[in-house]
Amino acid sequence: MTQLETAAADDEAFRQDLRAWLERAYAGFVRGWPGGADPRNLDFRRAWEDTLCANGWSGLGWPTEHGGRALPLSRQAVFHEEHARCGSPLGVNLIGHGILAPTLLHFGTEAQKRRFLPGILSNREIWCQGYSEPGAGSDLASVRARAEPAPGGYLLNGHKIWTSFADRAQRCFVLARTDPRASRHKGLSFLLVDMRSPGVRVEPIRQLTGEAEFCEVFFENVFVPGEDLLGEENQGWRIAMAAAGFERGTYFIPRLVRFAQELRQVRELALCADAYGRVPASSADVRHRWARLAADSHVLALKSQRALAGAMRGDPPGPEGSSTKIHWSEAHQRLLELSMQLLGDEACLAEATAVPGAAGLVHAYLWSRAETILAGTSEIQRNIVAEQMLGLPKA
Ligand SMILES: Cc1cc2nc3c(=O)[nH]c(=O)nc-3n(C[C@H](O)[C@H](O)[C@H](O)COP(=O)(O)OP(=O)(O)OC[C@H]3O[C@@H](n4cnc5c(N)ncnc54)[C@H](O)[C@@H]3O)c2cc1C
Repeated sequence: MTQLETAAADDEAFRQDLRAWLERAYAGFVRGWPGGADPRNLDFRRAWEDTLCANGWSGLGWPTEHGGRALPLSRQAVFHEEHARCGSPLGVNLIGHGILAPTLLHFGTEAQKRRFLPGILSNREIWCQGYSEPGAGSDLASVRARAEPAPGGYLLNGHKIWTSFADRAQRCFVLARTDPRASRHKGLSFLLVDMRSPGVRVEPIRQLTGEAEFCEVFFENVFVPGEDLLGEENQGWRIAMAAAGFERGTYFIPRLVRFAQELRQVRELALCADAYGRVPASSADVRHRWARLAADSHVLALKSQRALAGAMRGDPPGPEGSSTKIHWSEAHQRLLELSMQLLGDEACLAEATAVPGAAGLVHAYLWSRAETILAGTSEIQRNIVAEQMLGLPKA
């Protein structure tokens, strides 16, 4: 066997063991959840994420000296794929595990790694991301939150918005202006803020789905110790841009597994639709749209594999990520629009209808409106594709 074949066989053995464990553990977890499992419920998601961490399924790529398992990216990809395949939901500390931990490992001091990594590994500390403000979203460099020097650290004042999971988070990494005289990108710093500090106020924002996953966060004279500055003062922009690239090899994997699962559900719906007397499955329009989505699913899987291969080679993140983000988010909206059309009036009765999977599809449909906005809107991603892939002049 060549080295490559041995590695592939090892990955496959890892997949089979993991699959067996996940199926058993998730089924047991669902059975034990009081009042019936709801994978959309944030307490359910947090408790399942705690179970994964308690069983050694966190810090997969971290070095062993920080409690990680030092698994290669190929195995981490297998984990994300199998985890989504068994139907278990994404956790609530995604930002801690996916963004902050690799950023700390790259830019943190040894003392910062020792202080913060154990809380993420065990899921004891949930992290949120305090970048966006009412006047700084797409144009992130206009951040106005201000961190002024104070004895032993900084005094932070500002207003953040759309901060996912802020009402559950113990910690927030905040982009704040430390040099108002420097040009926009150059005067920002990356602060690791304790959400339990006096002067932090969190106000959840109710979403279309009825949940309140994100929040407004107000910082009023919040003291941030100097040791909680990550990297150098005024180097926050560089760190924030690097942080955005750490997940690129695996970000789309669970989303694409879910896409393929929902596509199968939509097919079932279309086949039953004749019986329900709604849009007929034989309709050319339904067939055409479903076929296009099947092609999307296939092409997206290939794009995700290409991104993983690039990350494994150590290639720097490129504009292809923007093209995949547009493709996935817009195709996902089309998929869920088709499912709503097939459900017809039943969509309004999603929790009560006998149509299998209807409640999950309605929830996903409502949530998917956010997918073309979060992590960079479709317009901003198109600007990147236009300028960096097609070589068009700057807008
Ligand atoms: C579900 C969800 C979770 C989020 N979680 C977080 C989080 O945890 N932490 C955090 O910091 N932020 C978070 N965000 C915020 C997200 O990053 C911003 O919503 C996003 O960057 C867009 O910024 P904005 O909402 O201020 O819109 P704006 O930037 O005000 O944009 C408004 C509209 O103008 C368009 N536009 C703006 N500039 C241009 C341009 N140059 N060219 C063409 N069109 C343009 C945009 O595409 C958009 O359609 C979250 C958002 C969502 C939806």
